[in-house]
Amino acid sequence: MAQETKLRICPLCEATCGLELTVEGRRVTAVRGDAQDTFSEGYICPKGVAIQDIDSDPDRLRTPMIRRADGWHPATWDEAFAEIEKRLLPIMERDGRHAVGVYLGNPSVHNTGLAIYGQVFLRALGTPNVFSATTVDQMPKQVAVAALFGTGLSIPIPDLDRTQYLMILGANPLVSNGSLLTAPNIGERLKRIRARGGKLVVIDPRKTETARASDEHHFIRPGTDAHFLFAIVHTLFDENLAKPGRLAALSAGLDDIRALAKTFSPEAVAEKCGIAAADIRRLARELAAAPSAAVYGRIGTCTQEFGTLASWLPEVIHVLTGNLDRVGGAMLTRPAYGPGNTKGAPGTGRGFRMGRHKSRVRNSPEIFGELPAACLSEEIETAGPGQIRAMFCVAGNPVLSTPNGARLAKALDTLEFMVSLDVYLNETSRHAHVILPGLSPLENCHYDMAFSQLAIRNAARFSPPVFAKPAGAPYEWETVLRLTGLVSGAGAKCDTAMLDDMVMLNLIERETKLETSAIAGRDAQQIFAALAPRRGPERSIDFMLRTGPFGEGFGKDPQGLTLAKLEAAPHGIDLGALEPRLPEVLRTPSGKIELAPDFIVQDVRRLAASLGGNGHGELLLVGRRHLRSCNTWMHNTTRLVSGKPRCTLLMNPADAAALGLAEADTAAITSRAGTVQAPVELTAEMMPGVVSLPHGWGHEAPDIRLSVARDHAGVNSNLLTDEHHLDPLSGNAVLCGIPVTVKRAAKAREREAVAK
Ligand code: SF4
Repeated sequence: MAQETKLRICPLCEATCGLELTVEGRRVTAVRGDAQDTFSEGYICPKGVAIQDIDSDPDRLRTPMIRRADGWHPATWDEAFAEIEKRLLPIMERDGRHAVGVYLGNPSVHNTGLAIYGQVFLRALGTPNVFSATTVDQMPKQVAVAALFGTGLSIPIPDLDRTQYLMILGANPLVSNGSLLTAPNIGERLKRIRARGGKLVVIDPRKTETARASDEHHFIRPGTDAHFLFAIVHTLFDENLAKPGRLAALSAGLDDIRALAKTFSPEAVAEKCGIAAADIRRLARELAAAPSAAVYGRIGTCTQEFGTLASWLPEVIHVLTGNLDRVGGAMLTRPAYGPGNTKGAPGTGRGFRMGRHKSRVRNSPEIFGELPAACLSEEIETAGPGQIRAMFCVAGNPVLSTPNGARLAKALDTLEFMVSLDVYLNETSRHAHVILPGLSPLENCHYDMAFSQLAIRNAARFSPPVFAKPAGAPYEWETVLRLTGLVSGAGAKCDTAMLDDMVMLNLIERETKLETSAIAGRDAQQIFAALAPRRGPERSIDFMLRTGPFGEGFGKDPQGLTLAKLEAAPHGIDLGALEPRLPEVLRTPSGKIELAPDFIVQDVRRLAASLGGNGHGELLLVGRRHLRSCNTWMHNTTRLVSGKPRCTLLMNPADAAALGLAEADTAAITSRAGTVQAPVELTAEMMPGVVSLPHGWGHEAPDIRLSVARDHAGVNSNLLTDEHHLDPLSGNAVLCGIPVTVKRAAKAREREAVAK
């Protein structure tokens, strides 16, 4: 059979590398990095190679499944939708839309169809009970930047290729490949900082792979990043090093910051953080003196009790050192598809609102339309008006990825009805009554909307599907539109093509009403006709690109971007290095960078109150990432799980010796939420007093259909994390710094279900 070369942007992590696939018929025979890709320049990691395994995985579901009393049965699409209609609509009629909850998993952001049409479905469903992986991940950063700059994805990106100083906290980009920082081949980019005479500093409770490749590493006690960062801010004021330059006139609240920082001298926080005051002062001086510098905090700074403060303070430091919006500092992308910070009046906007509704049981405020994932169990369990009685779980595995997974698993079993949109029968979808499978990533087109706005260069790339989808199988966006029709009263056999047209026309009409749009005042029907014959996500992408900041504006700028131009450039179009965007990028009502928003200022009191204690000598649990893993969903490929078991408890040898534990012993790890057992791996890379267990494992349930993952089950670290413990500002779960006790297990654990 003839070989062909196909290109595809990798959807498996945030780096969005261009892949070059060799295919023979319907089979992938080789995967390598696309050397001509304008953005990723040939980089690939082992996960990218494994995309062929996901495509060919015999465990991947290819037809809908219905669960009956005697187990799972394959079904036709019509049968599956008839079942949903029969069982869901009576619940909605009886209890209202509140009775339906939705959980959106991380892969839904990596799938263009789900990213666009998922929002359409949520609007049609109209439930306030929306949850997602955001609140077990980056919500604190989104809250912080929304307050500062006015929109939730205006996240300043370290200008890696031009910076002279990078401080990394709670992140391990050498294995994560970057997060909220889309930078393929990030290891090489970090090396180049040092090669050009710059400096790389890592602050982390573990001497990670990235720390080992740095100039300087400091252990930090989990959960104290905000204390440390405030001590940097304190030093900048104390030693007269704060030089915001042009940013002073663009910022509100500088004096408030100076006052707030008084409490957090390096000497006051040193013991709490485990970093000497002299080192903190020196690092602050280095940040101030560097020709350009950026502070990058990620998962460890978000998933902790002061997550929003620890996500806000790097931006405060960027302002105080003049590094925000400066070449080599922390800069904002200008995404070609035209997100919120490129729309409307430049430099001002409605800003950020939260708390438009609250969770029923815990009274947690809504943020960006969603509630904390940690509240999901109680919203299902607690009787009364508004109780969740049915769920949609879209490309997510919250039993493994949200706190106290055992409680959630039990709660899901009490639902009257649950639908999972998932390619696997996994630890969460096993609780569903109907599973609607998605396609292989190689059967979908792709334009990365989320990560193109977090990228180190402005770039636009589009992948058409590598393979045609199987006959009769809908695209995910068609499935979601059919569900949209169903919950809107149009029935299970609704006309999805007509719905798609309505969605598109609606989008066009809204855009024509924006004074600053390239198509302001234009006839919506004419624009709609100009997009023909495209439909689905491709039509939406074409529209967004044409009305975006580089777009051709439907005739306004013939040189501008269209999807057709991207299709003609299969290795992507580079739109240039990041350029300063202040003040036009701001969407705050004041037109300023709101450096000291009230709700953040109030929370600084809680931070100050925490200065006193350091716990009671318990061990603190943190997670970790591996290059060959991505959350819960990369464990069913032999290529990625072979070799030495990775789900081990990393411990400092001194801590282990004090507890009488030796290498390879089975440890019982206990928190308020539960107990798990894992083999001990001794390493001086762990800070004394801190232990680490990776997340995403625990593939032990008896009825999952993940044959490879089951043989490498590991344990679910989220049986230990505590659903009661949140960063109150963002609702983000605290997954880092969990107090645990560790002891030798009485006997090796029998294989058992994660949750019965
Ligand atoms: S780094 Fe991420 S995007 Fe690049 S090949 Fe690996 S998984 Fe894919």
